[in-house]
Amino acid sequence: TEEALQDINTASELADLIELRLDYINNIKVSDIETLIKAKARPVIATCRPKREGGRFTGSEDKRVALLERATDSGAEYVDIEHDVERSLINKFRKKAGTKIIVSYHNFSETPADAELKEIHQKLAGTGADVVKIVAFARNITDNLRIFSFLEGVRTPTIAFCMGELGQISRILAPKYGSFLSFASLEKGKESAPGQLSAKELLNVYNFRRINRATDIYGLIGNPVAHSMGPLLHNTCLREEGLNAVYLPFKVEDLPSFINGFKTLNVRGYSVTIPHKVTIMGLLDKLDPLVESIGAVNTVVNRDGKLVGYNTDSTAAVKVIEDGLAKDGDTLHGKKVTIVGAGGAARAVAFGLKQKGAGITIVNRTESRAETLAGDLKCQYKKFGELDKLNTAILINCTSIGMHPNIDDIPVPANVLRPGMLVFDAVYNPPETRLLREAAVRGCRTLDGVKMFVLQAAQQFELWTGRPAPLEHLERIVRTKLAGTQ
Ligand code: NAP
Repeated sequence: TEEALQDINTASELADLIELRLDYINNIKVSDIETLIKAKARPVIATCRPKREGGRFTGSEDKRVALLERATDSGAEYVDIEHDVERSLINKFRKKAGTKIIVSYHNFSETPADAELKEIHQKLAGTGADVVKIVAFARNITDNLRIFSFLEGVRTPTIAFCMGELGQISRILAPKYGSFLSFASLEKGKESAPGQLSAKELLNVYNFRRINRATDIYGLIGNPVAHSMGPLLHNTCLREEGLNAVYLPFKVEDLPSFINGFKTLNVRGYSVTIPHKVTIMGLLDKLDPLVESIGAVNTVVNRDGKLVGYNTDSTAAVKVIEDGLAKDGDTLHGKKVTIVGAGGAARAVAFGLKQKGAGITIVNRTESRAETLAGDLKCQYKKFGELDKLNTAILINCTSIGMHPNIDDIPVPANVLRPGMLVFDAVYNPPETRLLREAAVRGCRTLDGVKMFVLQAAQQFELWTGRPAPLEHLERIVRTKLAGTQ
């Protein structure tokens, strides 16, 4: 009870309503309830969820009803009652003046089909509920679409969303589709259902209070997406530019059905990450010419319903290097560039630099991949073992060597680094890799991967909105976040 009192206090600073989960309070006594309800500075929903509906209450039904009754008698504005209780219990609470009834249905294994959702809603609304609550579980990201279209068709105040990581977007978009409320945890680790975001994340990352029916949607397509910095960066840009839009994480397994299904939401733009950068090309209406040569898309723009693919990894890397050279009045044209790596990042960087007239050499551990990329670029390639004879003006690391946690690894022998060489590392975690440290000691100019990472996001934002992104602010966010993960 003591801990609950503290939590009520904290919750009052974040939330519009507080759900008091009586089933989460150990050994709760009926007499404690009045103390808890009286402490509220916000309207309260009293819930005492039994195990059968996914809660923790294992006591008798009489005790459960007694706890809820004491809560409503003490002034709880809402009481949440499960759909499968005796109708007489619902009627009992309906007679209590000043208390509204939420009749709830939970499905922890799937999202019911459209017709079934309507049927459940009709049944719950028929009990005389003030608010109907239908909570499903998302097995696929497209399950959220059923919830959105269902919400748009109901008249009774209704709470509806999907649980689970794949259902998080339905919690964030609750105000857009008219859900009566959305639940958030008090802090990370205090979730009362799978997929719940913390209140601070909902408010500070997703700008929840700004979301309404007219809010545009952007998002990141990938798998996994849970640790991406994209939502923080893009939602910061959207807020600072005063745009009515939100950027969401889309964890996508089946890409074709996602792209097709989400057309109904008219998503304004996507970032694309592993593992979908190549496969998405075949699902778009148009590709930027640079994308056709690189063979990968990291950005999609919705232009009047047509999806157009771009690659800002490429343009961002080129800009970072050009800006680095420009400090000494230099340009890329005719420069000798060695790229270590032949994966997705190397392809994007190499094609961008080639367009600017650089002379490129590819070096990669798996020689056949170096040969293929060099063939596509019509440039030279070398064996990994030949790196000790390096003769280049610009050296770029596009491998994951040196990336957290293997921070002592270096992609080239340190003695090949010469004064005046420009060394760019695409790795951004950590920002200062061993390669960059050794390069600085030997008098090279250095550029880190954070600049590219921030710029590729900023260029996406510009492609979507036509507005410049707040670059310095974004760079600060990324560097602070990365400093916290070391
Ligand atoms: P990828 O497609 O998987 O390619 C990985 C590359 O690293 C391949 O060339 C691979 O060589 C090489 N590699 C990996 N481990 C190695 C090792 N132990 N020894 C030698 N070579 C090794 O990955 P990617 O998407 O190109 O990403 C590469 C790096 O760039 C990652 O660290 C990523 O974080 C970074 N990146 C940064 C940005 C940014 O905005 N700053 C953007 C994109 C990527 P093999 O061909 O022999 O396997």
